This record gives sequence, structure tokens and C-alpha cells, in this order.
Amino acid sequence: MRILIVEDDAMLAEAVAAAMRQSAHVVSHAASGDEADLALSTREFDLVLLDLGLPRMDGFEVLRRLRQRRSKVLVIILTARDSPGDRVKGLDLGADDYLVKPFQLAELEARVRALIRRAHAIASSEIVHGPLKLDMAGRRLYCDGRPVELSARELAVVELLLLREGRVVTKQQIVDHLYGWEDVSTSNAVEVFVYRLRRKLDASGVDIKTVRGMGYLIEKAGDRPDA
Ligand code: CA
Repeated sequence: MRILIVEDDAMLAEAVAAAMRQSAHVVSHAASGDEADLALSTREFDLVLLDLGLPRMDGFEVLRRLRQRRSKVLVIILTARDSPGDRVKGLDLGADDYLVKPFQLAELEARVRALIRRAHAIASSEIVHGPLKLDMAGRRLYCDGRPVELSARELAVVELLLLREGRVVTKQQIVDHLYGWEDVSTSNAVEVFVYRLRRKLDASGVDIKTVRGMGYLIEKAGDRPDA
């Protein structure tokens, strides 16, 4: 997931970013409201962690503009303001969840997982595909019950392909998904990277197909004649 953290408290932003990166998410940071507004109108994100008290433009206004552009990006408001009025206003403006500071990072991580599940309409935090099982909460991939050793980037790509199983994922979508990791910033790097991933998935029989001129695809498990 590509996550934008909008937070003017540098220490808190860094702590949240570290926790999200640990879960193999790709993290960007905006320290003011106008910076967030610019990032959200020019780049694609899956989730925004939005503070309300921000320099130059407050979080409510960032959210109002975001929903005015009909963006469906997931938003969790993280704020010290805990009056019912603020919560109602935030949710009415289109926030998906609301967490009051100070919060435990573990609770934030659990809420992020819950939102991802809801967004992908998945009942649990596991995706099963043939012999593969992706534990999105534990950030591990298993093949026939045995863990597959993957780097955080490889795990993020497998997750993207499995969440969109049966649909083509373009190289550009992979580059965007991995935004922030400099060694995966070109489509050539993506090719090298998918090659490594294929070798690691070889034993599972799960194939990452190349769709010429378009991108990559993991077919639905039931679509394979031998599945
Ligand atoms: Ca603040």
C-alpha cells in the first residue's frame, strides 16, 4: 500500500512511518496541509493518515478538497482533538476511521489492516491462492505452510498481484506501488525484480505471467487447468 502520512510533528511522523515501512508499506510524508493537498492531487495513494492541526491548511480542509476531487483513497484521521463534534465532522467529510492521540502503534496497524481488508472486501487478513497463503497482518508468505523468504519489496509486489488476482498489473503500477524505494524506480528494475520473485515462487507452481506490452498477472487459482 502507498501511504501518505500528513503530520507536522516530525518525531510522531517518523515513528508512524517506521511502523508502516516495517509492514512493507511504501510511505511518503507531508508536514503541512498545503503540501498534503499538492501530493494528493498529483500522486496516487491507497491510504492517508491525516492529522487535523496542520500549518497553512488544516486537515479538515485537506479532506474536504480530497473528497471534492472524488478521490476514494482511504483516510484515517489521527488527532489530539477528541470532541464528538470533531469526530462527527471528520467522518461526515469522508474519513474512513478516526484515531485519537496518543494511540498505540499496534492499534493503528490493526486499523490499517482492517481498512485494507474492507477496501478489498476480504473477510480475513489472509489471501489463499493455490498452495500460497499470504498473511497480510503478519507480513509473511507461505507455500504449503512453509514460509517463503521474501524481501519487503518482493512481498509488497506479491501482495499487489494477489489482491488483483486475475487482473493485469502494469509495470508503472508496480513502480508507483514501490515509490520511495530507489532501486525499483524504473520499469527495467521491475523486470529484474519480477524475475527474482518468479524464481522464489517456482516451487509453488504459481506463475507470474507476462502480458506483453501491458504488465504482469497472477491468474485466479481456479482458472488454471491443473489447479
Ligand atoms: Ca499537528
